Amino acid sequence: MACIGHRDGTASVSCSTCASPGCPECLEQVDNSFYCTNCLLQRLQEAEFEAYEAETTTLVRDSRLEAKRRVRRNWILTAIASVVIVPAVAGVVIEDDSFPSALKFVAGPIAGILAAYVLWAALWGIPAAWRWWKGLFAGTSALIVSSEFGWLLLAVSFFFIPIYFGYLYGVFGGAIYEYRKNLKIAAGLLLPDPA
Ligand SMILES: [Zn+2]
Ligand SMILES: [Zn+2]
Repeated sequence: MACIGHRDGTASVSCSTCASPGCPECLEQVDNSFYCTNCLLQRLQEAEFEAYEAETTTLVRDSRLEAKRRVRRNWILTAIASVVIVPAVAGVVIEDDSFPSALKFVAGPIAGILAAYVLWAALWGIPAAWRWWKGLFAGTSALIVSSEFGWLLLAVSFFFIPIYFGYLYGVFGGAIYEYRKNLKIAAGLLLPDPA
């Protein structure tokens, strides 16, 4: 039989995918199998796609685990800190003599729950603001570090701004947004933001 690569050649092997006859010089050998050019290119594309898919799958699985961990960690930290903070805040209200005593036993627990919420909100808000802040700095750091005033500004604001804005962001709704987003990521319903 004639080789598909050159007319005067004799086919001694064949493509392992489409069975086209060829000589060993015209077909490509990969792992003891021969491939014609078309099938080889297709096989390479498939391999590339499989590698890409495997990478994406790993990325999604990692981010789901990370989101699950975040949700659990923030609840645990809130619960642990609440053991101390909730009675302390409630106690401040209850022991405050300027507060109407008729309202104390309602206001005390409410203040305690609010304190727990603020804590939980800060745990979601501050890391979110920190990620935003770091992203912002990645583009402008060269400008800031080139002057002495920039250094001072950097030192003061670098930690203060994300903590302050993260706290505000968390308390005024951001925490609920971040919490719901992480629940969705953990459930595999949402892809995480590109890092
Ligand atoms: Zn082939
Ligand atoms: Zn040939």
